[in-house]
Amino acid sequence: MKEAEGNEGPTATRGTWLDARESLLLAPYATFSRESRGRRYPEPAHPYRGPYQRDRDRVVHSAAFRRLSGKMQVFTGEMGDYHRTRLTHTHEVASIARTVARALRLNEDLVEALALLHDIGHPPYGHAGEEALDECLADHGGFSHNAFALTLVESLERRYAAFPGLNLSWEVLEGQRHRIEKTGTPRLEVQVVDLADSISYDAADVDDAVKLELVSLDEFGEVPLVAELLAELRQRYHGVGASLLRRELTRALIDHRVSRLIDDARRQLEAAGFRSADAVREAGFRLTFEEQMQAKIDELEAFLYERVYRHQRLVSVRREAQERVRALFHHLKAHPERLPLFHRKRIESVGLERACGEYIAGMTDRFCDRRYREWVAGDSRQMGDDQISLPSA
Ligand code: MG
Repeated sequence: MKEAEGNEGPTATRGTWLDARESLLLAPYATFSRESRGRRYPEPAHPYRGPYQRDRDRVVHSAAFRRLSGKMQVFTGEMGDYHRTRLTHTHEVASIARTVARALRLNEDLVEALALLHDIGHPPYGHAGEEALDECLADHGGFSHNAFALTLVESLERRYAAFPGLNLSWEVLEGQRHRIEKTGTPRLEVQVVDLADSISYDAADVDDAVKLELVSLDEFGEVPLVAELLAELRQRYHGVGASLLRRELTRALIDHRVSRLIDDARRQLEAAGFRSADAVREAGFRLTFEEQMQAKIDELEAFLYERVYRHQRLVSVRREAQERVRALFHHLKAHPERLPLFHRKRIESVGLERACGEYIAGMTDRFCDRRYREWVAGDSRQMGDDQISLPSA
């Protein structure tokens, strides 16, 4: 496999099978693998996987990615097993993002890597856990799941003898950094993942909230976008049952927005006539829904915020979870000897507080509960050790 020789990086894939494939399939404004700025630790090109394909695989095989299955999205494990976890949400985002990327002839491999990475830094208990950790680390740089994703893939994940972290491509790290800094114009692949994220959680949260009986389908009908789609569905499937209607609505909420996004984007991109990914960024081009559609999305999100995310059942669960995170943090700070060796060593480079925060952030909801019971609440009935510390896993 001659073409696999040489290091990955700028021009590494020029003239190879990958270059030929991308030249055929991608639009001029897409991100091309041959233009990648490479990896921090140079690696030889792979014989049959492109750089972003490798990045995607590295994320999927990481410990932090697997732990997403034990982390809540909006609703906790005790509330049932129908609703999304952070892992299934991530797959839904990747699925939607790939659909959009393919339709717009963008780099699907890059989009998939970015999508699978986007929530990898979530601590236990979703945004509630994030708020609690941020508060605990207020005097030590704070905590954000987006920034922690970078810490994980650049430092904490240990799967390779030659380098720390996953040594992902520059463009993947840059895309994740955009989620934190929000400056400049991200490449189209990054924008697509961002939009796919909100398309995915808006639809999923409607589905889950109705299934969990926090809000009824009729109450969601107060939202104009939902009312429109429900009217269409009721007309098309006369007499359809409530649970099937809920599922059809979920599908319609995704399909409607994805279709509008693709149609609008195609039109705008064609009119702009960008000849490169750089041209898109220099022009400050943003993929957007047209005004009326965006207003409907804003109404749906405002409703979800008021009626679902601030629902009494969630508020009390979140408050208790935050108390457990805070208590565990202060306990570990007072007893750093309880940190697994890897995290204890991190104290030298990031300080005691961050080392404690990083250890907690890597935990699943269940493991965090158990550590809290064992160490803080002093309940030893559940002692066991089926989850060892994050990086040494
Ligand atoms: Mg997300």
